[in-house]
Amino acid sequence: MSNFSAFPSNRRAFMMQAVTAASAVMVVSEASAQAMVDEKDAQAAGLGYKVDATKVDKAKYPTFAAGANCSNCALYQGKAGAASGGCPLFAGKQVSAKAWCSAYAKKA
Ligand code: SF4
Repeated sequence: MSNFSAFPSNRRAFMMQAVTAASAVMVVSEASAQAMVDEKDAQAAGLGYKVDATKVDKAKYPTFAAGANCSNCALYQGKAGAASGGCPLFAGKQVSAKAWCSAYAKKA
């Protein structure tokens, strides 16, 4: 009988822990999904990533064409009209739709 009376409180404690753990996972996954690529990150710097494509050093990156940015790059994974989206070159982070990097490939 005492086992029965203990069960509901153990179950309640378990459910509270499960909810807390699920919330923590959601917070972590949202945070990583929203992390933006920083121009100063080693990989970003190596690719000449600029958050604002209009600021690309055209002398250093002569392949840059006016109007080119992540939103019209074949690698961009963001939805049309979204301010940012994923890019396979920066797994787990978001690139700005208005950004550019030297791996840019015009969307067909
Ligand atoms: Fe943007 Fe394309 Fe470079 Fe990815 S590969 S950062 S989508 S320009």
